[in-house]
Amino acid sequence: MPHHDLVIIGSGSGNSLLIPELDGLDVAIVEGGTFGGTCLNVGCIPTKMFVLPADRVLEAHEAHRLGVTFAEPTVDWPGIRDRIFGRIDPISAAGEAYRRGQEHTTLYRSHATFTGERRLVLDTGEEVTADRLVVAAGSHPLGLEVDGLRAPDPEHGIHTSDTVMRLDALPPRMAVIGGGFVACEMAHVFAALGVAVTQVQRGEALLRHHEVEVSQRYTEIARHRYDLRLSTTTTSAERTGDVWRIGLTGPGGASHVEAEVVLLAVGRAPNTDRLEPAAAGLAVHDDGRLVVDAELRATAPRVWALGDVSSAHQLKHVANHEARIVAHNLAVDLGRIDSPPRTTDARPVPHAVFGHPQVAAFGPTAAELSAAGTPFVTATQSVGDVAYGWALEDTTGLLPVHADPTGRILAAHAIGPHASTVIQPLVQAASFGQRAIDVARGQYWIHPALAEVVENALLGLPLPDPA
Ligand SMILES: Cc1cc2nc3c(=O)[nH]c(=O)nc-3n(C[C@H](O)[C@H](O)[C@H](O)COP(=O)(O)OP(=O)(O)OC[C@H]3O[C@@H](n4cnc5c(N)ncnc54)[C@H](O)[C@@H]3O)c2cc1C
Repeated sequence: MPHHDLVIIGSGSGNSLLIPELDGLDVAIVEGGTFGGTCLNVGCIPTKMFVLPADRVLEAHEAHRLGVTFAEPTVDWPGIRDRIFGRIDPISAAGEAYRRGQEHTTLYRSHATFTGERRLVLDTGEEVTADRLVVAAGSHPLGLEVDGLRAPDPEHGIHTSDTVMRLDALPPRMAVIGGGFVACEMAHVFAALGVAVTQVQRGEALLRHHEVEVSQRYTEIARHRYDLRLSTTTTSAERTGDVWRIGLTGPGGASHVEAEVVLLAVGRAPNTDRLEPAAAGLAVHDDGRLVVDAELRATAPRVWALGDVSSAHQLKHVANHEARIVAHNLAVDLGRIDSPPRTTDARPVPHAVFGHPQVAAFGPTAAELSAAGTPFVTATQSVGDVAYGWALEDTTGLLPVHADPTGRILAAHAIGPHASTVIQPLVQAASFGQRAIDVARGQYWIHPALAEVVENALLGLPLPDPA
């Protein structure tokens, strides 16, 4: 039975654990899917590479507002798809080849299941044990509790984000089920590229966990771009020929939508369902996440976990940060670094939705602050009211910012052009505990850049003049 100093389950963020301080260890990586994990192969990176051409199509349509008219854009789907995966697939293959070629590293291309403490069985039946083990097994897309939609079936037109980006051809129609960030990004991409999209959302608005004015604005914009069914539940799915007929129940009663492709984008669950964590002494939360402490140790000795399999945030920058913590803590545990273990902390966690327009946020919404009884002040700056917004003729952008009564920034929620970049100075300010007035007046803001929206939002906060 092979025994290793360290076994890592998952080659996404788990693949970045092997820092120089761990050199020489006998390491095994176990990967049951595509080498490199979700972000590289089916997540952040390809989606954003599809969003770019989709944005270009919309910008071409919208340019007339600036006095420029383009001919109707044409979309080369196979060209876009093959350009994107022609870049990504070799990165995955090269990463795998690199690990295979390493002297002290074994790569098991198999799904693993726990049979005991730091003991795994592979699909081949082979058992593997380890002195130390890291679970970096990620998450998977969920299905719906509706016959025909319980699990993906790409051969018959039922996709998740794992497969929809590799379609042979754009379908005439697509039903996107879900209202979160994956659903919104995909609805944007396929609608812009020429597919007749219907997005079905159970809640009253898209991106419901965002600041209400951001969620409402995104929903209104989406409603004008494609068929959007809100407060609508998916009840049935039947296929005739190549066409799915999806039964719906909404505010107007029963209805349906027909589509050649259905995209299930109703959330993701940690990959503990096929891992048998109990056999290894690993406790899980009610939602399936592995329980970890602040050092990211799981509940069995010398086992750590990171990323989507244990984190409350399904975000790559969080998984990467946690991988840095676990790598350090492994080295400390092995006596290779003489310093205390690192822990997770309460720094704000930002995220973005690369829809059209973009949305980005960190920290609580106004409703959440009120519900928690947290005193706060707030200001909202429209992008259209700063000079660069005039140049853009922007009607989409908003930046609500919340601060505590001393001026420390608690949260920001942006919608509009480049929101994912615009919000970063606020993430920095909140992370380092800077006061709004110091951020606004302690530096020059390039005029007339889009970042002035941040400066103006901070100056708009109803705070007493600093002494
Ligand atoms: C469509 C989409 C878009 C996204 N966009 C963004 C974005 O813009 N920004 C952002 O921050 N995040 C985004 N995310 C989320 C981000 O991709 C994840 O948070 C991140 O990839 C999680 O990394 P991880 O290392 O925890 O897991 P993964 O990268 O998923 O790695 C886990 C690996 O473990 C393997 N595995 C699982 N179980 C086993 C087992 N039992 N045995 C062997 N191998 C196993 C899997 O095959 C997988 O390769 C997106 C996700 C999706 C789906």
